[in-house]
Amino acid sequence: MSRARTLLLLAALSLPGLPRAAPPHPIGIAVDAAWEKYRNLDEGKNASYIPALARVDPKLFGIAVVTVDGKTFQKGDVTALFSIQSVSKVVALASVLETSGARTVLDKVGVDATGQVFNSIVAIEQHQGREMNPFVNPGALATTSLVAGKTAEEKWARVLAIHEAFTGRKLGIDEEVYRSEAASNERNHAIAKLMHAYGRLYFDPVATTDVYTRQCSIAVTAADLAVLAATLANGGRNPITGKQVVSPDNVQRILAVMATAGLYDDSGIWLYEVGLPAKSGVGGGIIAVAPGRFGIAVFSPPLDAAGNSVRAQRSIRDITATLRANPYEARSAKP
Ligand code: GLN
Repeated sequence: MSRARTLLLLAALSLPGLPRAAPPHPIGIAVDAAWEKYRNLDEGKNASYIPALARVDPKLFGIAVVTVDGKTFQKGDVTALFSIQSVSKVVALASVLETSGARTVLDKVGVDATGQVFNSIVAIEQHQGREMNPFVNPGALATTSLVAGKTAEEKWARVLAIHEAFTGRKLGIDEEVYRSEAASNERNHAIAKLMHAYGRLYFDPVATTDVYTRQCSIAVTAADLAVLAATLANGGRNPITGKQVVSPDNVQRILAVMATAGLYDDSGIWLYEVGLPAKSGVGGGIIAVAPGRFGIAVFSPPLDAAGNSVRAQRSIRDITATLRANPYEARSAKP
């Protein structure tokens, strides 16, 4: 381009009224920076106790943020499908809170952290199936057994429908992950049976374990989970579809359980360092919620010893700090 034409173009660009590129948004900057910083981080290992999860590409890495007013910021593999795993426990809890009420969850499942690994049998024995929470497998199986519906198919239809309401799109299951987990599910069957023996499972244990396994196999993207997290940040109203998925009162309760038990036995460390209610899954996804501001979701399969995605934890920690989104941050009144 000639110098004269360049000057003309520059002059035209600075004319008032002409569209200009919007300045980069702080959330977009924070998302990009975290992705760049951790894309080559090589720590952790894919979950392998579910054989199909060991085969997922460990390099996949996507970060998505959705604000309560529906703005979206994304970087990396945000459209790659993966199994939702334990993030679905948040959704099943929402379903039971909506249909059976807060008291039922408190009395029939419990809401206290066990301090044990998520599939601990010792934790069941300690309190004879009581004082669980919906995010460890015994409590999650109890929660799924409480989902409304007379048959397993009715319960499953309801579980899938509320995942679709949270993400704002039609979902299916990852058949390979479902088959792989169903074929190696002895431990969850044992947990369901033991909970049943203590009178703390409220539907047939074999059928409950199957619905739970399907629920964990729902295929989602980081983009989907960011909408789910933003729905929780937005008092239960999906900021993209405008649909009220769960009541604001129940959102408060869900976030409380996420804060105390969302990252398994590392939940205390997480709250200490990051401060946001969050939930992880062994598929490599983590969601975190900044109430009234935004939801964030990161997908990266390699996990640490507690079963939480390494890159996802680091990214969310950085983004939360950059955006000053820790709700415990002191904000004293100006003198
Ligand atoms: N489906 C997995 C299980 O029950 C989910 C566990 C998880 O994500 N922590 O073992």
